[in-house]
Amino acid sequence: MEKRSSSSAPTIGDLVHRGSLALAGVSSSARLDSEVLLGHLLGYSRTQLIVNSTTPSTSEVVAHFSALIERRQRGEPVAYITGEREFWGLSFAVSPAVLVPRPESELLIEESLTFVGEKQTLRFVDLGVGSGCLSIALVVELMRRRCDVRCVGVDISYEALQVAQSNAKRHDVHKQITYAQGNWFQGVQEIKPPYDLIIANPPYIDPEEQVPLDLSFEPRGALFAEERGLRDVREILDQSSSRLRSGGLLLVEVGAGKRVSLKELLPNFESHYEFSLLGDDSEEDRFTVVRGVRR
Ligand code: GLN
Repeated sequence: MEKRSSSSAPTIGDLVHRGSLALAGVSSSARLDSEVLLGHLLGYSRTQLIVNSTTPSTSEVVAHFSALIERRQRGEPVAYITGEREFWGLSFAVSPAVLVPRPESELLIEESLTFVGEKQTLRFVDLGVGSGCLSIALVVELMRRRCDVRCVGVDISYEALQVAQSNAKRHDVHKQITYAQGNWFQGVQEIKPPYDLIIANPPYIDPEEQVPLDLSFEPRGALFAEERGLRDVREILDQSSSRLRSGGLLLVEVGAGKRVSLKELLPNFESHYEFSLLGDDSEEDRFTVVRGVRR
């Protein structure tokens, strides 16, 4: 067999392989990360990378790709390197001013859609919009169903609101969503309550908790909350009760390992809501969403 000289240009397939080896120790999705980064650099889909896997690359591509791989090796999330992340099948612009959308949060969309069912109108609030992924995905989905939907998207961060607004334009739902800067409901007057639905993915990590390196690149204010991670959840339960209509729904993501502390928190609000917990109810307690129907 002919031996390739060490100076010959690596193929696209070689680069994907090199990238995934380089990331093996730092990422649990090393190959995917490598493919996404090279695809971003070349403007290729993953399928195009495979089709072109034997095509030789240029020295510029090799150098650029190495630089991207190094950023990922230092822990920077792929989404910040590419500036994009997919959520609910839609592509969202992201920047370090916003949390990277997580696939688990799609449960909030599924649950909201079940709640809306055949309703013809919906007035809802997305507390802590970040990239805007939750409310934008929900509005896109409801418009396909010809629902008359209006939303207020709230965030305390002006930079996050800028990102959310650009994503709303990208998905052509900017007429349906109004953005407001506020500390949860403090300062929000855009659509008058009562609302049919309130959704939130607030900060819920206990500041004492050990967290993976990737998280150090994301905005602290979007991740960590006092009171063992439950301060914002408590404030949202509290402030939402007077703003939800009777029979309206509150959905709050609370992440992992919170079921025990939720058992202490939720009884304080049981006169206002009928609660159930969604998500992973295994022993590991990996993911929970609080579902509260306003009494
Ligand atoms: N709502 C956004 C999301 O779910 C941002 C959440 C946050 O910043 N905590 O990704």
